[in-house]
Amino acid sequence: MSFSENIKKELCSLIREPCCMKAECYGLLLFGRAFSFNEISILTQSSESAHLYEGLIKELFSITPDISRSRAGKFTVSVTNPSDRRFILSEFGHTGSEIALRINYANFENECCISAFIRGVFISCGFVTNPEKDYHIEFITPKQKLALDLKRIIEDLSITPKQIRRKSGYSLYIKDGESIEDILGFMGATTSFLHMMNIRATKDMLNKINRQYNFESANLNRTIEANMKQIKNIDTIIRLGSLDYLEDELAFLANLRLENKEAALAELGEMFNPPLSRCAVGRRFKKIEAIADELKKAENRNENNNGK
Ligand SMILES: [Zn+2]
Repeated sequence: MSFSENIKKELCSLIREPCCMKAECYGLLLFGRAFSFNEISILTQSSESAHLYEGLIKELFSITPDISRSRAGKFTVSVTNPSDRRFILSEFGHTGSEIALRINYANFENECCISAFIRGVFISCGFVTNPEKDYHIEFITPKQKLALDLKRIIEDLSITPKQIRRKSGYSLYIKDGESIEDILGFMGATTSFLHMMNIRATKDMLNKINRQYNFESANLNRTIEANMKQIKNIDTIIRLGSLDYLEDELAFLANLRLENKEAALAELGEMFNPPLSRCAVGRRFKKIEAIADELKKAENRNENNNGK
């Protein structure tokens, strides 16, 4: 079962406040396949969603919708009787012949009813991608004005959905993990909310570990580069003269480096008696570098003179 289907299953199993039933039913119907005088219906893959649609209509209006199942396993739930449709539409303050459907806020009795409404909308037209793959929640409706009204309701939760026009309709989507969690929590999908929070925490931790690893390997690369440069300078001094050019302390350090090619500066420092700090070792390598540079310059001068 997909993450989205699990959320819907959880939402369908909740115990509902009486005031919220109408708001949830309104969300389900308004954002279903059709909500007009000619047709009131929902098309869904989930049997829980189909039975919720049927159950709420029965409970609120004493009307029994028709349920059918396609060979592909999809459920269609519809109110088949025209006078039943007219009654349901008028109960929600609609005529059924509106050119542009809008959300009728009079259907929300209390604050809690807004979350029930969004729950109904989500069950009808929403989905959430598995958070292990991506953070994405989306609502799609073929009605442009409905999408705009829903956007305003979501924005009232301090969440800003993005809009996009798809083949299948007008879409609102959110890609921020925390906001998706907020919506799951707001709709009452507590188990899915906690599940997603765990996944996000694990992902964040892995990202942190990766960042730390990259940081450390970059440091390591820098150390290796610096060591190679020191060894090259020492080789230059040996090639163009000898380590006798160096003061005792520098010659000792040069030998230490040749014997410990991978050691960090601090490690080399510890091999001195008394030990030297990392910075002190670094300063001595600077001196070795300056001497190697002088020797190379002298070599260039000699080659130029010989060439004349
Ligand atoms: Zn309520």
